[in-house]
Amino acid sequence: MQGKGAKSTVKAVIFDIDDTLIDFTETKNLAIRESVKAMIDKGLGKDFDSLHREFRRFYWQRGIEDQRIFQKFFLEKYGKIDYPVLASAILAYRKAKEGILKPYPGAKNLLIQLKEKGLKLAILSDAPKLEAYLRLCAVSFDDFFDLILTKDDVGVSKPHSKGFEIILKKFNLRPVECVMIGDAPDRDMEGAKKLGIKTILANYSSRKLEKPDPRADYTASSVSEIWKIISRI
Ligand SMILES: [Mg+2]
Repeated sequence: MQGKGAKSTVKAVIFDIDDTLIDFTETKNLAIRESVKAMIDKGLGKDFDSLHREFRRFYWQRGIEDQRIFQKFFLEKYGKIDYPVLASAILAYRKAKEGILKPYPGAKNLLIQLKEKGLKLAILSDAPKLEAYLRLCAVSFDDFFDLILTKDDVGVSKPHSKGFEIILKKFNLRPVECVMIGDAPDRDMEGAKKLGIKTILANYSSRKLEKPDPRADYTASSVSEIWKIISRI
């Protein structure tokens, strides 16, 4: 039984990746900035601020995981692709992204502590499989996880319960023995909560919420708070 106050031991932790383990939004914003600078340098005659505003909006609405976002932007805006501008923008974007993609301070330590405690660790991400692995491997986090599930593995995005159910089955655990950590109340928290998995909102990205969300059982305002919360559960 899992009534209120029932003792439960956390045996597994499920993590989202973006804006939970890795500072994804800020990385992308900086990469967007660098790509717009490169467009201007290559002769796209526009002032930086207006082009930056325009491309940034286009990117966040349309292209978070779109590998052809630059082509689409140029085609929709100018009706054609200027290849030197396109190539320069893509190069600047990639260079910036690779150079700055990093985990949140304390994230690696948290994973080490959880592993030392003997907990099973899983990833449940809505990113495409290759993108998820590129990010996890870039920060050397992939080896910490017993199970890595992406949208390509599950077939549906969070908050659908399928990904959570696969993890419970693989680990042979009950929902009450698991914790989900993510930055999105509507996807990460809701999906887990529906099944009775405890939820911790990772509320420290540049898009953090002002108020706590009722779908989160706990809210962490830094990575180090996650460890404190899990130790208490
Ligand atoms: Mg996320």
